[in-house]
Amino acid sequence: MSEPDSHADDDADAGGLRTPIVAVLGHVDHGKTSLLDKIRGSAVTAGESGAITQHIGSTAVPLDVISSMAGDLVDPTDFDLPGLLFIDTPGHHSFSTLRSRGGALADIAILVVDVNDGFQPQTMEAIDILKRTQTPFIVAANKIDTVPGWNPNEGEPVRVSKEKQSDRVQGDLDEKLYEIIGQLSDNGFSADMYWRVQDFQNNIGVVPVSAETGEGVPDLLTVMMGLSQRYLKEEMSIDVGGPGVGTVLEVTDARGFGTTVDAVVYDGTISEDDEIVVGGLDGPIVTEVRALLKPQPLAEIRTEKQFERVESVAAADGVKIAAPDLDDAMAGAPVRVVRDRDVDEVILEVEEELAGFEVSTAEEGVVIKADTLGSLEALSGTLEEHEIPVMRAEVGDVAPRDVRVAETAGEPINRAVLAFGVDTLDDAERLADQEDVEIFADDVIYQLIEHYEDHVEAIETAQQ
Ligand code: GDP
Repeated sequence: MSEPDSHADDDADAGGLRTPIVAVLGHVDHGKTSLLDKIRGSAVTAGESGAITQHIGSTAVPLDVISSMAGDLVDPTDFDLPGLLFIDTPGHHSFSTLRSRGGALADIAILVVDVNDGFQPQTMEAIDILKRTQTPFIVAANKIDTVPGWNPNEGEPVRVSKEKQSDRVQGDLDEKLYEIIGQLSDNGFSADMYWRVQDFQNNIGVVPVSAETGEGVPDLLTVMMGLSQRYLKEEMSIDVGGPGVGTVLEVTDARGFGTTVDAVVYDGTISEDDEIVVGGLDGPIVTEVRALLKPQPLAEIRTEKQFERVESVAAADGVKIAAPDLDDAMAGAPVRVVRDRDVDEVILEVEEELAGFEVSTAEEGVVIKADTLGSLEALSGTLEEHEIPVMRAEVGDVAPRDVRVAETAGEPINRAVLAFGVDTLDDAERLADQEDVEIFADDVIYQLIEHYEDHVEAIETAQQ
């Protein structure tokens, strides 16, 4: 376990600066998963296999690996941030669910856009969320390998060379890339190809990539590193030895350990035997760390043992936490180490963080349901922008109770339940038929609202 252990040294070298946390967003099928896979895969090829961790909800790509992938694009002495930590679950759903002290867990984002397809509904949703959370991002214009006339960089490492770029970005691809730049500008962003952007804070850089061939991926990592170094450095300073603070990414079962949580620690340190407070379905859970687990290096992953124990983990890094009583732990909820503080104080902090999800309701309006607090908040925020009032908002499947509430809404347009990423119970469906309540269900906020708005329009037309 030589490499991950060296994180502590990295942190010390970096004077208490942590790794920026990166999220990948974009429309379905535009290549988010493939891009993450490629980044992991390329990083493994470029670096020591042990340096890359995975299977605990996040992937750390250290600076030396980025610099060996990017060749002369990256001089490691220009940077004092230790690398990049990618959240493995792509999409704006996980982005809005994963919080750190009320803000987004991710410090920076990659918005993936298929060059052939341009902006699509979920691209717009992602942009709305990035704007709302003021998260800096760059655009990965993906699938360049599918554009007619694109001439792959034969025989060279998979990076798009800056010098050659102007010769190679021509014809069809050029047109498509400028379409994306135009769409960004329609949404109020000034944007340009990344090699022409000087100020990434006010301009969005567009990086052409192929998640299939890997071309452009080193450029993408280089730009992310540069952007973080320039604009996020101050926010990355942490209390390295302090009590750990993190977010639950996923609640899973691990053989021999029962229910465990995969978490990202973004401040301080978590150690074996630490007392911790974790956000749960019924409020804070107080428990004690039994084991901290890291995945085996990739090269050894085929062996029986998938994880190995570590004594402690310092921010920012992913870790699997084994502890008693984690059954009700909630994805997106906070994790805090108690150490020498008063446990009640820490419980209060966790409660405050859970209460920090902003879902506004009105006297009259529709009923909304979603699978997590974060997605409920995202739906409520978008409805607010569409000036659609919400009377009641809750996490969970659509139940008869929700239909009963909607039924009491006076206005016909309010007799509706909008369900995001959850199921509708059969009883609820039956009751809705009987009581003339409409249930709209979708996994895409944009489409959900569109269906509801069509419904409202039909009612209004009928009333005229
Ligand atoms: P996601 O829904 O955004 O996570 O998209 P996926 O990563 O699942 O990709 C959707 C499809 O596009 C898959 O069939 C991928 O193999 C394909 N794909 C993704 N990136 C590329 C690319 O750069 N080039 C090509 N040719 N195909 C790609």
